[in-house]
Amino acid sequence: MERFGENAVAALGDATLRGALRHATDLFGERRRAAVADVGAVEFDALRDRARAIKDHTLERLDHYLEQFAERATARGVRVHWARDAEECCAIVAALCEGALQGRPEASRTIVKSKSMTSEEVRLGEHLERAGFTSVETDLGEWIVQLAGEAPSHIIVPAIHKTKAQIAELFAERVGTAPDADEQALTAAARRVLRERFAEAGIGISGVNFAIAETGSFLVLENEGNARLSITAPRVHIALMGIEKVVPRLADLDVFLKLLPRSGTGQHLTTYQTLITGPKSDPAMEGPDEVHVVVLDNGRSRMLEQAVTRQSLACIRCGACLNACPVYQQVGGHAYGSVYPGPIGAVITPQLAGLERGAQLPFASSLCGACRDVCPVRIDIPGLLLHLRGEVVGAASAPRGPRGTVPRRRGERLAFWLWSFVVRSPWRYAVATRLVRLGQRLFARGGRIGRVGGLLGWLAPPLAAWTEGRDLRPLARHAFRDCWRAGMALCGTRTARTEEGEP
Ligand code: SF4
Repeated sequence: MERFGENAVAALGDATLRGALRHATDLFGERRRAAVADVGAVEFDALRDRARAIKDHTLERLDHYLEQFAERATARGVRVHWARDAEECCAIVAALCEGALQGRPEASRTIVKSKSMTSEEVRLGEHLERAGFTSVETDLGEWIVQLAGEAPSHIIVPAIHKTKAQIAELFAERVGTAPDADEQALTAAARRVLRERFAEAGIGISGVNFAIAETGSFLVLENEGNARLSITAPRVHIALMGIEKVVPRLADLDVFLKLLPRSGTGQHLTTYQTLITGPKSDPAMEGPDEVHVVVLDNGRSRMLEQAVTRQSLACIRCGACLNACPVYQQVGGHAYGSVYPGPIGAVITPQLAGLERGAQLPFASSLCGACRDVCPVRIDIPGLLLHLRGEVVGAASAPRGPRGTVPRRRGERLAFWLWSFVVRSPWRYAVATRLVRLGQRLFARGGRIGRVGGLLGWLAPPLAAWTEGRDLRPLARHAFRDCWRAGMALCGTRTARTEEGEP
């Protein structure tokens, strides 16, 4: 994440990656629009308001609802564990896995895992591998990136950056399918391999979409059935959740189940919704004998402290802001160097990993506001990005962290100081724009400023970088003030007010 700039430049040069991203994000965007239209924009906005109100209410009383969830889940036979950070979380899960094997020398060390961003955040897979377990991702996209030795590049579509041809090539090498295998053959191969892992695994791990304080239950949403198999087939199940996943009542799910799939993939409902309320109570029933829930903080309490950052915890990980973001659409998830990419990643990652490491990410945005427009819980992501930019700039002047870890933007500060000095005085503004009008004659060709040799690059490098890919509009020949004073005749038109004889 410290090299976002370089990563982004490399990604921009990869036409295959950009094509795959564009295709997928456009498709999800269209599906979302259709799904929202089905509900009706007014109704959908009312659902968004309701969702945000539930989240705000819960986050203000988070200690209460977490305790209630833990108490009621425990009463149903679930064992609840608390992890302060990633290290503690991994240690708890590894100990639970070892415990599950005790007295069972014949038991397999294979773990089946369904998609969980929390487990990616704490790098659980690597930790379990080091502890001697084989942790198999069972979500198709997650399995693809695991086979490729990569990290997921999207919150809900981990292999969004890969084309079908790249996946066929990967499967030919790792699974033995034909190099030209079609989607059906690739999916069938994945199903065949993963079914064997489900059958042998004694431990299953999943994430949690929502934990319900009222009942002590937790809900897992998915489309492939792999999470349900990971939960019900093995003898022991371990679910990982961030502290922000709790909601007060079972009835609250009605709101979130309408919003999350529509916003993320444009589905009316995910294919499977699995609600777990404790282990099986009768040996003849299906389901795990043991259910554990690990509740993770890992920096989230810090986000709770201020109202402005607290809203980051309202995120329901739908992925809509990634699909809508013009930066994500071009560079993809890996450029961010974090399991949480895109606009919400640019907000969460610096708060989780620290401003020193994530300093570049709040600047990875044009602040166009597309993320805020699609967010089902109305998180003001541009506002948060600006807040974090302020913290980065503040941190840059503070004597902390090794020199250079936080960018020192002297040029940018000077430019904004100059801008502020000019625009605070009408006459300074008039003089400055006259000078620019004169100066731009050197660069403007045919009413546009495009690639005009090295002079612009020498004078103003950021503008030269901008004109590498697009033209810049020069200032108009006459300032609006001058036109106005001349009754607009100078600009070739007359205003209604001057025609009526008004000053
Ligand atoms: S910030 Fe909003 S749009 Fe982005 S993933 Fe979270 S809930 Fe979805």
